Amino acid sequence: MTKAAQTSEEAVNGDRPADRITQGLLRLNTAMRNRAWNWAEGAGLTPTQGEILVLLMQRRTALRLNDIARETALTAATTSDAVSTLEEKGLVEKRRATDDRRALAVKLTARGRTAAKRAAQWPGFVSGALGSLRDEEQTALYSGLFKLIRELEIQGTMPAHRMCGTCRWFETGATAEAGTARRGARAATKATKATAASPAFRCTTLSQPLDRSSLRLDCLAYEAADVATQARHWKILKQA
Ligand code: SF4
Repeated sequence: MTKAAQTSEEAVNGDRPADRITQGLLRLNTAMRNRAWNWAEGAGLTPTQGEILVLLMQRRTALRLNDIARETALTAATTSDAVSTLEEKGLVEKRRATDDRRALAVKLTARGRTAAKRAAQWPGFVSGALGSLRDEEQTALYSGLFKLIRELEIQGTMPAHRMCGTCRWFETGATAEAGTARRGARAATKATKATAASPAFRCTTLSQPLDRSSLRLDCLAYEAADVATQARHWKILKQA
């Protein structure tokens, strides 16, 4: 490659790994946005409406408009418009919230659930391609994405996720090992072997060991930990 061509390529891709990764994510975003629009047009929806359907399906419960807006990073007005359209199409219905009779909560109808299952499938082209990566590459990529998402949450540029590390049921390092040891010598031996390869994490409510590849980004059993615990866990997770 000539020096001029190399300089031109660096100008486009950036000369730091962080710049190149950002470029890669932007390309991926373009491909995903195109695929989302293609799918949505075929389904008579917008990608935003599809995203709301999938969110309601994953939560398995009715959500208030402000919860939907927060989790999808949409404005209140956009969320309200999208939900109203979904309601007109018979895919969601509004009910009184069980914990506050003055508030409205949105839930899927039977037709909405079918549409949500279809909407959840369009990103399959990415999962299919990821399947061609080696296991260790998939683990490294997922671990990097997990940390990137947490970092963006901390910066306030991404909505909070129901993820391990900020959850009150998450245990790290010595705490997790001690908890495992209490649950029996055999389990403790296995955990010690695992610890040699990677830091010990554990979910106490699901009684499951966790590692870099099994940390959850969106968990139904999630309950937020206090701020000090979240900060302590993040310090440890960053090194994992
Ligand atoms: S698996 Fe779910 S409940 Fe357990 S620590 Fe992770 S987010 Fe919390």
